[in-house]
Amino acid sequence: MRLEGRVALVTGAGSGIGEAAAKLLAAEGAKVACLGRTRDELDKVAEAIRGAGGEALTVLADVSKPDEVEAAVAKTVKEWGRLDVVFANAGINGVWAPLEELEADEWDRTLAINLKGTFLTVKYAAPHLKKRGGSVIVTASINGTRVFSNTGATAYACSKAAQVAFTKMTALELAPHKVRINVICPGAIETEIDDNTDRRDLEHVKIPMEFPEGDKPLERGPGSSEQVARLVLFLASDDADHVTGTEMWIDGAESLLRG
Ligand code: NAD
Repeated sequence: MRLEGRVALVTGAGSGIGEAAAKLLAAEGAKVACLGRTRDELDKVAEAIRGAGGEALTVLADVSKPDEVEAAVAKTVKEWGRLDVVFANAGINGVWAPLEELEADEWDRTLAINLKGTFLTVKYAAPHLKKRGGSVIVTASINGTRVFSNTGATAYACSKAAQVAFTKMTALELAPHKVRINVICPGAIETEIDDNTDRRDLEHVKIPMEFPEGDKPLERGPGSSEQVARLVLFLASDDADHVTGTEMWIDGAESLLRG
């Protein structure tokens, strides 16, 4: 039980990487607030955690809305009296389209959820984390940090690159308070995120690339949410007590081949 007595807030906990992390953190003893926009999905995850003997709470919020994030953090702290671990993971692929076709409001939406959402989550959690020290984990991507060849995914890649800068800026600011913050950069992970991607006219800008042996050197296929959750657990736990302000790629070397 590496997180006994701790309280964790997981954003985007209703599916994919967030769901797997919420379940694993709970299995390691954390009380977990499952934050997202879809009540059904979140309730299912919270029920599964409780069914396995853990403690969980559903908190509904859109991470791009300051008042909703503030209320979600307040609800978590009101319920359990503290906050130790934050997994700022909610995100969307948004619209992937050629530069001239990408609309300003499409750009804004991707940045609002992925980047501003991260800012708001950490901003409102910070006063509580500072009380006892804590750990924040942000989900970025190989896109925007090592891979720049997904032409059309410009808004997404920029939001992910900026999450890395955000992590480094706040790592220094929060270090005197014993709050660590790190950023994970997954490669392709089998989740529902592809169903929520709006790809438009990419054939006009796609750069031809073919890897005869496939583009996933280590395992020949996408990773799983559970593999990512294990990295989140490590960073959340005291095993990582000297690790802050750093990015960790979790991609089976995919980004080294595709960068
Ligand atoms: P997913 O779609 O299963 O999970 C994303 C979750 O975020 C969903 O539950 C969704 O409801 C929630 N969400 C979206 N917008 C939200 C908002 N405004 N407010 C609150 N919740 C919101 O996909 P996933 O792959 O598990 O994605 C999790 C994170 O991993 C994202 O930040 C994504 O960019 C990142 N990522 C995923 C991959 C991959 O291949 N799956 C690769 C690199 C990075």
